[in-house]
Amino acid sequence: MSCQQIKQTRIELVQGDITLQEVDAIVNAANNSLLGGGGVDGAIHRAAGPQLLAECRTLKGCDTGDAKLTKGYRLAARHVIHTVGPVYGTPNAPQLLASAYRRSMEVAAENNIRTIAFPAISTGVYGYPLAEAAPIAIHTVIDSVKNGLEIDLVRFVLFTSNAQDAFKRALEDIAAHY
Ligand code: ADP
Repeated sequence: MSCQQIKQTRIELVQGDITLQEVDAIVNAANNSLLGGGGVDGAIHRAAGPQLLAECRTLKGCDTGDAKLTKGYRLAARHVIHTVGPVYGTPNAPQLLASAYRRSMEVAAENNIRTIAFPAISTGVYGYPLAEAAPIAIHTVIDSVKNGLEIDLVRFVLFTSNAQDAFKRALEDIAAHY
C-alpha cells in the first residue's frame, strides 16, 4: 500500500477488489445506461444484489463525465457513486476522464461521504492506457481536495499489479510537486 496526505485527505493506493471495501462509497465505472455491464460494473452489481439495478433504472442514465448516487444494498459500502468515463481516443477523453473523477468527488462531498474508493476508470473495456489514466486520476483528486472538498480518505483500488504500479508512479510524481 502507498499513501500520501494532502491537506486533511489521505490518498491510498491498494491492490484488490473494490466490492469488498469498507468505505462510505465505492465508485462504479459504469456505462451511459447505468443498467449494468462487465468488468467492475458487473462485479459491483453481483455483490450489491438486484436492488441496485432496480434503483439504477430510476436514474435514466448518466452522461459521460458525470456521476450519480445510489445506495449500496448488500455491499459493505453504504453508497455507490456511478460515473461514466470516456472511451479512449474519443473527443475530449482526457477532460471527460478528469470530470468523471471530479464529479464523483463532488457528489461524495454533497452527500456527507467522507471515505471513498475508486477503481481505475476507463482502463478496462474503455481502453485507456494505465500510464495516461493514472496521472489524470491522481491529479484530479488532489485538485478537488486542494479546492476545498472535504473528504477524509480517497482509496484507489487497483485490480492488477500493472495498475498498482502505474498509480504508484503517478502519485509519487505528482505529490512531489505539492
Ligand atoms: P471501463 O469500461 O471504465 O474501462 P472496466 O470495468 O472494463 O471499466 O475496467 C475498469 C478497471 O476496473 C480496469 O482496470 C479493471 O481491471 C478494473 N476492475 C475490474 N474488476 C474490478 C474489481 N472487482 N475491483 C476493482 N477494479 C476492478
